[in-house]
Amino acid sequence: MSNTRRPLIVGNWKMNGLRAEAASLAGALAEKMKEQGATTFDMLLCPPATIIDAVGKAIAESGLSLGGQDCHANQTGAHTGDISASMLADLNCGYGIVGHSERRTDHDESDAVVKAKAEAALAAGLVAIVCVGETEEQRDAGNTMGVVAGQIAGSLPESASASNLVVAYEPVWAIGTGRTPVSAEVQEVHAMIRQKISELIGESDAAQVRLLYGGSVKPRNANELMSLADVDGALVGGACLNPDDFWAIAQSCP
Ligand code: PEP
Repeated sequence: MSNTRRPLIVGNWKMNGLRAEAASLAGALAEKMKEQGATTFDMLLCPPATIIDAVGKAIAESGLSLGGQDCHANQTGAHTGDISASMLADLNCGYGIVGHSERRTDHDESDAVVKAKAEAALAAGLVAIVCVGETEEQRDAGNTMGVVAGQIAGSLPESASASNLVVAYEPVWAIGTGRTPVSAEVQEVHAMIRQKISELIGESDAAQVRLLYGGSVKPRNANELMSLADVDGALVGGACLNPDDFWAIAQSCP
């Protein structure tokens, strides 16, 4: 973690949470934020679209931020069941996750689709959190670097800058499995991602883009992961549904 990039801890609730959880989980985190006062990190909650509004109310005045888990590439139109980036912005979201591996797999989202969604997020004034990561098969074949570099080249929006882009490296095989790459591997991939971003948007902007690690981040491994030079925070799934665990992960930010 660097002194110049403020850590970002993101909770991806996935398809979990009814209105009662919005009040209890988000409310518990809001209390912790208020008790702590000034924090060394930014904390972002990405609940399901149905309870973004309720979570927004539960975290009002707490310093917590709000984001969506996905958005459509268009802002309006005949896209039944979809949510647009401007709808997220309308609910006071500041961020939108795009290209999560569960979207890439379950909805066949290509890099081009992810890029179009990221462009839509920027157009609506959101910060795009673009997710990349290799499958176990790709890793076993020795293709991690090539796969991730290709996703970066294909998924990042043209108008990306340090202020509107966050990239999350999430090895698919590490999501929800309790397994993580060793620290040296995480750092090696993050350094390569920063280099690739620098080729796209220039060195000084790339130096300020926050790179998150995601995949089985827990209180027990957060300290080590957050100490890596090019890791600027975490994208957390399972552990973010327990406020004490999620808070403990955030506390590992130096
Ligand atoms: C995720 O949802 O992006 C994720 C990393 O999940 P988990 O922390 O459960 O592995």
